[in-house]
Order: sequence, then structure tokens, then C-alpha cells
Amino acid sequence: MDDVSIVKQKTDIVSVIGEHVNLKKAGRNYKGLCPFHNEKTPSFMVSPELQIFKCFGCGESGDVFSFLQKYEGMEFYEALVSLAKRSGVALRGSFTNQKSDKAYLLELNALVAKFYHYILTKHPFGKYALDYLIKERRLKPATISEFNLGYSPQQPSLFHNFFFSKKKISPSDLEKAGIVYIKDGFAIDRFRGRVVFPLADSRGNICGFAGRITPRDSNKELAKYINTPETAVYRKSELLYGIHLAKRHIKMQKSAVVVEGELDMISCYQVGVKNVVAIKGSALTSDQAHMLSRLCSKIILAFDSDFAGDSAAKRGIKVLNEYGFEVSVAEFGKYKDPDEAARCDKQSLFKGIDNAVPVWDFIISSIFKKHAKDGNFSKSRISREVVAVLCEIDDLIIRSFYINFVAGKLGVSQEVVEAQVQNYIRSRRKILDVAQFDVKTTIAESANDNQKQKDVVELWQERLFSLTISYDLKQLINLYEDGVFTNVVLKKIIDHYKNYNDLNISYAKLVEILPPELSEKAKNLALLDIPEDQEDIQKEIRELTIRIKRHNLNLEKEMILSKIRKIEVDGNDKNEDELINLQKKFNQIVHKIASLALDR
Ligand code: ATP
Ligand code: MN
Repeated sequence: MDDVSIVKQKTDIVSVIGEHVNLKKAGRNYKGLCPFHNEKTPSFMVSPELQIFKCFGCGESGDVFSFLQKYEGMEFYEALVSLAKRSGVALRGSFTNQKSDKAYLLELNALVAKFYHYILTKHPFGKYALDYLIKERRLKPATISEFNLGYSPQQPSLFHNFFFSKKKISPSDLEKAGIVYIKDGFAIDRFRGRVVFPLADSRGNICGFAGRITPRDSNKELAKYINTPETAVYRKSELLYGIHLAKRHIKMQKSAVVVEGELDMISCYQVGVKNVVAIKGSALTSDQAHMLSRLCSKIILAFDSDFAGDSAAKRGIKVLNEYGFEVSVAEFGKYKDPDEAARCDKQSLFKGIDNAVPVWDFIISSIFKKHAKDGNFSKSRISREVVAVLCEIDDLIIRSFYINFVAGKLGVSQEVVEAQVQNYIRSRRKILDVAQFDVKTTIAESANDNQKQKDVVELWQERLFSLTISYDLKQLINLYEDGVFTNVVLKKIIDHYKNYNDLNISYAKLVEILPPELSEKAKNLALLDIPEDQEDIQKEIRELTIRIKRHNLNLEKEMILSKIRKIEVDGNDKNEDELINLQKKFNQIVHKIASLALDR
């Protein structure tokens, strides 16, 4: 056996996934909330028997390796190494020495972070920056260590000596890591003269860096902050600053405070608001929202005080709403951002967070506040702005609540505001040319209606199939010969089973002998949520069998009936015999349907 098969055999997928997802036993499978999309009722199934997982909501599926690849962002070989370690398997292949580019870059970043941290905390060249962080930014030495903060000196000699002379690292590798850029043949540290913040992913791997200019070097030409460019391991849209330290607090408190800057995050954390992450000054992305949705359902936005008019913030709110978060907004009075509040008066930070107001209240109130001073005639302007906001509220119940709220504030009836909202939505649709799109969906929907009944019966058949394999595989053949299964794929699977020389095989074995185009479907069928108790299974098998048979008979009955009608309409005597024949058949079917009811 090769390394991969050995590791797979020694690993239990349920316990690996169970470390990240709360799994509950569901018959012979396990069930939980899917970690790959946002859901409220579990549709994520894990089969210990087949060692696979599948989400029936979003379609993600695979084995234990692909789970780690998708969930942890590992590469295949990383997943292999980590599972080998876990199960005590010594890899024989060349995997162990064959480090991927990504792993190498992460190692390099860790080394760079160590170097910068050393300069900041131990070297005379770091003294000024250290003073700045401790005295002006009020960071404790323990905080500086915990966040692994650093400083890159202006003079290039230290950097060059360490990386090129001592560690023999090639400039091009440091370039790949985004630490240096090459100019006229020289490798230049892009963070020189800056306080450096290592940017870690949720597992604590250092993916990149942010550098802040110190007041001494600050000048109008230089950006206050710079970041590692996108590299093989750094994707800006996926990074939440501080997540590796904050995640367990977010999970525990079921909420996350989202701030803008690195120093906002660190300051909050230092004074005890530990469920905090920073989005680094850009709009919150759906990758970030997704990451948070695995940890909590409440978000408290603690942005700079000018955030109400900020379109990036609004985009972020939209994304959070799509993920179903309960979003609120914290304000800190006279302080311009959470960092200032934490530094100057931490009670004001706590109060701001405790008293955070629901996001729509906040936005709507801020529109009213903004226009309050222009007197009564600005109502139309307020209404235009507010209506645009109301349209953003996807949840109709919540929207209607705010329509009420706005109507009250404007002193008009609720219906008028509602009508305005509908107008706005309509005009926006026109702009997007959604009209055409609507036509398409209507056609699709009517086709769907015919499809729907068929789909339901297919689902019944699939469920019956799953129940039967959990109960007694051999019964599949009886049901098949009874004409219960009409679905082609199910029939093909059963054909393979019937023709196999041993009917006592396990279902896992059956999946193995199926051709690839059937095995995928067969695997999925083993993942349905089936009751544990054999009696319950048996009962459901009985009921479904009857239901499907009745459906099949009804179809047949309708077909005969339509033939009968046709002959009757034609009024052709020559068809007399056929008519009698059809009526006989019709009666037989009606009889069969009636006796099915007695079977129950
Ligand atoms: P500080 O407190 O250090 O002055 P801040 O967080 O108050 O920083 P802002 O100007 O409000 O600074 O910026 C918020 C965040 O946006 C920063 O923490 C940083 O992550 C990011 N940012 C700011 N300026 C830039 C820039 N020029 N390029 C990239 N990111 C930036
Ligand atoms: Mn600040």
C-alpha cells in the first residue's frame, strides 16, 4: 500500500472533522452545520463507513484530505503530513523532504518576523520605534511579544548581513515572499524604517506583513501603511488581522468586534476586548465574513467615527447581511477610533461596545441627524436617502419594522414609505435590466412545475434506496424487480450489484466495484440522514414503497384514462375491443391502488 492509502486507513474522518465541526450521530452517519457555507439547519454529512463527507446544501464533498485542504487551506502534501503525524504513520515516500513553495514562504516569513522582532526589542536601531510603541501607542512589552511586532531599520546592512550572508537566503526568495523588491540589482526591504505587524492566518502562520511609518520618518510622500503584495501565501481579501489570537474568544462570546486598523485591534485586545479582528482599512470581503460566520453570528462594527458616510463600510454591511449576521455599530463619543478610546479611557470603549445599536438604526438615524439642521424642506432629500437604505434590508420583516420607524420619524403613513420603497426597487431593476431576467426566470419556473413532481418521486426513490442499504442490501433486488425504482441511475447501480458474484458484500465494497460515473452518486446515497433504529428504518421503507408504488400506478392510470378518452372522443366503433381492454386494465389498477392502502 502507498503512503496515502496507509494514512487514510489509519485516520478516522469523523474524529478529524469532529475537531472543527460539531458532529452528531445520525443513523450510520454523522451530521453537522456545514463549515463551507452559512446554514442554520445541518446538511453536512460524514460517513465513517465510506470515509467521506458531503454537504447537501452547498455541494462540497470529498475525503479527509480534501476536507483539510478546503477547511485549513492546506495543500495535499501538508494534509498528508499532518494526518500521518496524527496517526503515527512514518511516511516512506519523498513527501517529507519535498516542501512546497507555500510552506517555504511561510517558513521564510516566520524567520523575517523573528528578525524584525529582534531588532525592535533587542537592538539599538529599534530603540526609537520601541519607545514610540510603548510611550505613544501605550503598548505593553507583553503585547508587543504576543503580536510579534517588529521594526525594520532604515540602514540595509543588518538586513543584508542576516539574510544574505548569515542565512544564505536568496534575494529572489525574499522577493517571492514580498519582503524585498529588486531595484538596479539590489534587494531592497520594502518595510525599512517601519514598525512591522506580522499578518497571521487563523492557524497562526505568518502570511505577510504590514508596516507603519514612525513619526520620525513620516512624510507626505510615504504611505502611512504598506502591506506585503499578494503572494502565494498572502491574499488580502482573506486576511483578518488578529484572528489567530481572537478566534477562541469570538467563539466563546459568540460575537466579533470588527475594527479597521491593526492598532485598533491590538489596543482593544490589550485592554480585554479579545474577540476583536481588524479588516485593515478596506471593505469587509465575503471571504472574511465567511470565516467569521464559522465562529459567531453577531458582529459589532467599531469603525472610525466618520464611518456613516463611508461607502466601503456600507459594502461590508451588505456582505455581513448576506451571511445572516446580526450587525450592530459601536460609537466612542469624542474618540476618533477604538484605539484612541482604549488608550485614553477604556471604559468608553467597553460602553461603546455594550451599547452598540443595530446597524439599520444607526444608518437611518445618521441620515436624519445629517439633515436635521437643514429644516423641514429637506424631507424629500431625507426620504430619497433613507429609501435607498431601506431597500438594502433583505429580511422583509426587519424591513417592514424600519419602514414603520421611518414613517413615524417623517410623520407620514407607513403605506407611503412602502410605496416609495417599491418604486425605488422597480426603478433600480429597470436600470439593471432585470426585466429581461424576470422573463427568463418565469419560463424556467413553469418548466420547473412539471419537473417538481418528478423530482419529488426521485427523492423518494433515493431515500428508499438509502434506507434499504442501511437495512438489508439484498432487499434492493426485490424492490427493483417489483418495479419500484424507475430512476435510471439507481437501476444501473442495482444492476451492478445483481450481477456481482457475491450478494453478501458491504455497501462500501459495492461502491468500490461501481464504474466511476455511478460511484459518486452511490457515495452520496450513503450519506443521507437515515434513522438509527432498525424498526424506524423498516417502517419508513414500507411507507415509501407504498407511496412510490401508488405514484407509479397513478401515472399508469392516467395514461390509460387519456387513451380511453381519446377513443371515446373519436367515437370509432372499430376500437370497441380496445376500449373494453383498456377499461379492464383501468379497473385492475384501481383495484391495485385500493389494495395498497390495505397493505399499510
Ligand atoms: P494609526 O492609529 O496607526 O494612525 P489608523 O488605524 O488610525 O492608524 P487609518 O488612517 O484610520 O489609521 O487607517 C486604518 C487602517 O487602514 C490602517 O490601520 C491600515 O491597516 C490601513 N491603511 C491606512 N493607510 C493605508 C495605506 N496607505 N495603504 C494601505 N493600508 C492603509
Ligand atoms: Mn488610529
